[in-house]
Amino acid sequence: MFGRLQYLFPLMVKENQLQNLVSADVAVIGAGVSGASVARTLSRYQLDVVLLDKEADVAFQTSKANSGIIHAGFHHNKKYLKTELELKGNMMFDRLHRELKFPFYRCGILVVAMQQEELKYIWHLYEQGQENGVFGMEMCSREKMLELEPGLNSDVAGGLYAPSGGIIEPYLYGFTMVESAQKNGVKVVMDFNVTSADFSGNSYIIRSEDGRIVKARYVINAAGLYADEVSRIFGGEKYTIRPRKGEYYVMDRTTKARPKHVLFPVPTPVSKGILIIPTVEGTVLIGPTAEVIEDKEDLSTSTEKLHSIFDASRKMMKEVSQHDVITTFAGSRPCLSSDDFYIDVSGVAPHFIQVAGIQSPGLTASPAIGEYVKDLLKKAGCVLIGKPGFDPSLDREYRFSEVSREEADRLIHENPACGNIVCRCENISEEEIVTAIRKGHRTLDGIKFYSRAGMGRCQGGFCSYKIMKIIMRETGMRYDRITKHGKGSVLLVDEL
Ligand SMILES: Cc1cc2nc3c(=O)[nH]c(=O)nc-3n(C[C@H](O)[C@H](O)[C@H](O)COP(=O)(O)OP(=O)(O)OC[C@H]3O[C@@H](n4cnc5c(N)ncnc54)[C@H](O)[C@@H]3O)c2cc1C
Repeated sequence: MFGRLQYLFPLMVKENQLQNLVSADVAVIGAGVSGASVARTLSRYQLDVVLLDKEADVAFQTSKANSGIIHAGFHHNKKYLKTELELKGNMMFDRLHRELKFPFYRCGILVVAMQQEELKYIWHLYEQGQENGVFGMEMCSREKMLELEPGLNSDVAGGLYAPSGGIIEPYLYGFTMVESAQKNGVKVVMDFNVTSADFSGNSYIIRSEDGRIVKARYVINAAGLYADEVSRIFGGEKYTIRPRKGEYYVMDRTTKARPKHVLFPVPTPVSKGILIIPTVEGTVLIGPTAEVIEDKEDLSTSTEKLHSIFDASRKMMKEVSQHDVITTFAGSRPCLSSDDFYIDVSGVAPHFIQVAGIQSPGLTASPAIGEYVKDLLKKAGCVLIGKPGFDPSLDREYRFSEVSREEADRLIHENPACGNIVCRCENISEEEIVTAIRKGHRTLDGIKFYSRAGMGRCQGGFCSYKIMKIIMRETGMRYDRITKHGKGSVLLVDEL
């Protein structure tokens, strides 16, 4: 039923293993979902591709802190590039899910009108969706809304149903995209903060903060919040990325406010509003807010914003309760003043492709972004020849919490570590932690996002120490080198 555990693709090349000079045809800067998709798409061709990121693990910036929704494509006009790629990306998820086995579920989206006047705007979304070619949308009466979603506030006036919307686990999506790219020959270099670049001959010499060098003929700038700075480093177009922060609450899976569909209110001028989002793991998210901020690293949450999330979400579902909260988090959308994606061959920097302004719906659009960039690369002169032996599929790793008793017995008999439950809230075994580590995830957050250990009710209070011991045993790392999420987040230090 499940693929045997394989440790064939240690995910990341770390400092000591890296030659000082990596030479590639294409360097992709940024291992969020945009860069991951570009790298995987290019791994189908006979090209040397290197994926660079300044963080300790894949998808550690905006790609890990979002709503995880695969949008249906009715929120924006089709004149926008983001809408075109959102529609294409949405349709690509079934196949990707089959190939890469990350959790994905087309649960459908409901846009909820609580007042009669809001129905006018919902009609507008419906017509826009029809024009965009969104499949299967329906305008719904109050009764139909309550039939689809019995937990809705019974004062609902009506709404819109879009069955093609869905939910994914964004980090596992990012991880498996990169693992697949790596399986097909892409080199992945983490902790590589690009700080300078020179174009000479026909190639860029790209330098990291710590002096490592990568040489590449073409460069893809998929640096998210920092795309403006990376563009400046390469002598590309000048633009400014403005972070727009979104704060969330995470509710335990015991919450009574667990809708079957993603629930949207009527959108505001700057965002899609405060949503109630069932996750593929069974928890529920409420949020996000939308606040333009200056500091790209500011992921703080505030009581004031979080209260506003409760007030807004309770309008749609009265059962939303503060007692169910297990944690809060925030992510920042990398926005341009055009409010659209900017994906194009640079007009000023040679062999340089911009993938900037990838705010929402960037997760949904990401599979299509990979294809779009591949076509631009061809336009820029890069020769693409199909690679014989490209393998699109990954084996599915087992999740102890999902296997039958018989399967669990068999796994434990083969390997007792399968029966040693390290994370009690999420039922994660030692074997799953070991798999995460052997895949290259060496931080507590990387292991958490890969395996879910530490994501439950106690938020790692019980298992963090045990996981650190397993990291030390498996990697030989000292306790004072183990971090929560890379640089600047060491967990234990020697006594002063
Ligand atoms: C609150 C919120 C909710 C959202 N909800 C949804 C949703 O439900 N559905 C949806 O479709 N989209 C959603 N989005 C949008 C989606 O999350 C983003 O569009 C997507 O994650 C952007 O991915 P990316 O790869 O372009 O950027 P990122 O994930 O930010 O990746 C960029 C990478 O570049 C690296 N980098 C930056 N500078 C350098 C450098 N100098 N050297 C090396 N590496 C560098 C970073 O470390 C980072 O890993 C949401 C966003 C937010 C913030």
